[in-house]
Amino acid sequence: MLKHHVAGAEFGEGAATGAIFNPATGEETGRVAFATAVEVGQAIALAQEAQKKWAATGLVKRADVFFRMRQLLVERQDDLAAIVTREHGKVLSDAKGEISRGIENVEFAAGLVHLLKGEHSTGVAGGVDVHTIKAPVGVVACITPFNFPVMVPLWMSASAIACGNAVILKPSEKDPSAANFIAALWEEAGLPAGVFNVMHGDKVAVDSLLNAPGIGAVSFVGSTPIARYIYETSAKNGKRVQALGGAKNHMIVMPDADLDAAADAAVGAAYGAAGERCMAISVLVAVGEATADAIIAKIGERATALRIGDGTDPATDMGPLITREHRDRVAGYVTGAADEGASVVLDGTTRAFEGDGYFLGASLVDNVKPGMKVYDDEIFGPVLSVVRAQSYDEAVAIINGNAFANGTAIFTRDGATARAFQQDIEVGMVGINVPIPVPIGAYSFGGWKNSLFGDSHIYGPESIHFYTRSKVITTRWPDASESQIELGFPSNH
Ligand code: NAD
Repeated sequence: MLKHHVAGAEFGEGAATGAIFNPATGEETGRVAFATAVEVGQAIALAQEAQKKWAATGLVKRADVFFRMRQLLVERQDDLAAIVTREHGKVLSDAKGEISRGIENVEFAAGLVHLLKGEHSTGVAGGVDVHTIKAPVGVVACITPFNFPVMVPLWMSASAIACGNAVILKPSEKDPSAANFIAALWEEAGLPAGVFNVMHGDKVAVDSLLNAPGIGAVSFVGSTPIARYIYETSAKNGKRVQALGGAKNHMIVMPDADLDAAADAAVGAAYGAAGERCMAISVLVAVGEATADAIIAKIGERATALRIGDGTDPATDMGPLITREHRDRVAGYVTGAADEGASVVLDGTTRAFEGDGYFLGASLVDNVKPGMKVYDDEIFGPVLSVVRAQSYDEAVAIINGNAFANGTAIFTRDGATARAFQQDIEVGMVGINVPIPVPIGAYSFGGWKNSLFGDSHIYGPESIHFYTRSKVITTRWPDASESQIELGFPSNH
């Protein structure tokens, strides 16, 4: 059974457990312990102890851990990718892709000596200097989704640890093993035991973290209803919180776009990782009827040819979905789309597969409109909807009217249209001829509206602000002979 990892060792009893499945075969491959509230409390106490020593560790020594961690992630990426594919289902090359994005976060955090510099003003008043210190927040709770079991824990933990905090990671119970592997790597890299901990579990574990006074900050990534709950509960408890939620990402295709390139991009962005990416394109907004007809034909051709199967097979383009229930839920959107008035151009639910894996074919649905469930809900599967718009303005209005605002893209050859789009669109991450505009590690990642609750984006520069508390120190070294009692309002003049 997969246990919690706390203070450098297996931890807890595992009275309650959950099943882990291989989505490509439908087999139960193991069980994972679910933490109790008492166990979470014990883990926080151990993390607090470790955090104090870690925060007192010299910055250069801290940075060394990150350089070693980067190297270990590179060396062990095949082992880690195999774990991800076994429990998540995504193809091995995609699993390696998420590891490499996680490595970017470790590389960014390795610059911590520079990132944690404060500010200094000399002589703000007679003999008075002011400087700032970036102090850690203490123990950070990191609660992560199933779809990136390596990358999202590294989005959070690299910066949190760099800033002198300890971390308790509560990974998804659906693919929990990568978290323990990462914990072992951190310790092999020289991170003291107790600075990076893993507590597995469900709502009990999460609520225990949100309600514990010993947790200084909460980073969450997951679905919108849970993100909203995490945000509200953490805020009520006086914690700083960033809660990234779900998405419905639109890609506009203008009539002047290179339609073959746009179709290639749309197929990769819609069906990669079986659509289980928060930055997946789930809606294509085609401007003009001719554009819509042409691109639907091109996407349909490409999507039909996708090879679907076990992610460990190098010939596979698209693996299974995460659970049987999720696969059936996604299929329900496709079968229900015609009743809502949409046209199912490619019906992935009719594609047959051998075995008990949670496979689903790629679907393409035309004539989708806001107000239909297939449009309004986050489906999180291999379903691409096409909305037909008659103009650029109409396309932008559709996107700006959506409740989610994580990522978006425009495909065009016209610089003026692309430039206007950057200004007009109310979305956190924008691609110009880039279908999945995930910022590199040196920038921060985050959506707007229902895609993010809180005011800090994740990783990159905003994470240093989120994981530290600022202290301002005002200093004077007075001449004792000039000392006098002063009851007036403190002035700098
Ligand atoms: P989820 O919201 O079901 O679960 C996320 C985490 O919350 C897990 O650790 C889970 O155990 C925990 N959780 C679930 N229900 C809970 C409850 N009632 N109370 C407390 N904790 C609870 O999300 P998921 O299905 O694992 O992941 C997919 C979702 O994550 C999609 O909506 C996707 O868009 C989103 N996502 C968003 C981003 C982003 O950056 N915005 C990135 C990746 C995934």
